[in-house]
Amino acid sequence: MRLYYRYDNIVREILARREISGAYYGTIIPATIAIYYKKSVSAFIGEYEKPYFIDPMTYFINQPIKNICNKQNNPRRSYKMLIQEYLGLDVENIDNIHLEEETVWDLSEGDMDLFCRNVLNFQINFEDTEAIDFMNEYLEEEDQQQSGPELLVAPYVLIEDDDTYEFNRRCSETTFNNYDGDVPLFVCIAISKNYLARNPNLEERILEDFSFTNNFIIWVSAFNAVNESVENLLRFKNIIRILSDNSRNTIFNLYGDYFSLLLSKFGLNGFSSGLRGGTKKVARLRKSGGGRVTTNVYVPHLRRFLLEEDFRAEIQRDERLICNCIKCDEIMENQLRDDPFYLEAFANDLMDEKNYLVHFLFCRNEENLNLEDADLVDLLGDLREKSELHNTSVFRGHLVNWLDDL
Ligand SMILES: [Zn+2]
Repeated sequence: MRLYYRYDNIVREILARREISGAYYGTIIPATIAIYYKKSVSAFIGEYEKPYFIDPMTYFINQPIKNICNKQNNPRRSYKMLIQEYLGLDVENIDNIHLEEETVWDLSEGDMDLFCRNVLNFQINFEDTEAIDFMNEYLEEEDQQQSGPELLVAPYVLIEDDDTYEFNRRCSETTFNNYDGDVPLFVCIAISKNYLARNPNLEERILEDFSFTNNFIIWVSAFNAVNESVENLLRFKNIIRILSDNSRNTIFNLYGDYFSLLLSKFGLNGFSSGLRGGTKKVARLRKSGGGRVTTNVYVPHLRRFLLEEDFRAEIQRDERLICNCIKCDEIMENQLRDDPFYLEAFANDLMDEKNYLVHFLFCRNEENLNLEDADLVDLLGDLREKSELHNTSVFRGHLVNWLDDL
């Protein structure tokens, strides 16, 4: 199973560490970051040589302009750059648009051919050769070939009604018809839960309507396996199973968690998440307001993230929830066991210097490695054991749902 992590400027340093490099497959670079931090992203790619691809994030184009604005009501710089790149619109005029009313682009009127070509070209030509050459010189390495993204993603918007479904289909087909390169080209199926609920046979329809491709990226907006009903989990599993078409197709989930690891047994080939617990995402952008930054700690025994305060309370309640990854063992070894506050000290150290991110990377990698030799029965047995062992935790409900579903 390919483990991807979403690149951002905070986790960059962690993902770049040599000792971490073997613990994940590759990175997904959001287009807003790719375009705004082109040089530093290119340097990262050039130096670490891990596979990557760019999420073109085109779903912002049919949303109200106010959704891509900062607090001062101006479109954010990174989006303005993308608008220029994808649509060829003059960025300076965007400031003068009626923010409440207009969307960035009218799907029914835009020049689709040009849009599809631009989105693909942005990904193909993304790397900044100057930054890569500089890194090579700095590292005194032989000149490396420009590696390029390992796959390309056709433009997409959020599918929430029949019009946006049809737009996505046409957009994807146009991109495929105009492309003859060697790098695999993927379609991205981003869907709202409402549209899914209203269309019980959607996955069969997609398989038929998108028969020009074998490569799918799936994103169910706001889907979070830890909080979903059994019904929604079943539906998600069914989407993966159908679109995988008996493993004839390659299929990745754009935002996933441990549940996605289990879905490898139903045809899923990889998934991505944020390093800091970003296991879901809503496809409707919102005006940025700078909310509270929370720390999420992964708890492998519960197969989920907990907020820092919940994590601290849970390990006080049940010490067995502390994991045995290299990082946690190392931190625990440094604690004075006769100190009555050693659990608190352990938690403090884990939160320090991004240790909890490294801990998560190690744990997830371990889970992924265990997956390879195990069949579904083994995995579910393991899940049942965890669910029973921690049956006093209020944070275990999802384990019961997952067992029901699978
Ligand atoms: Zn750990």
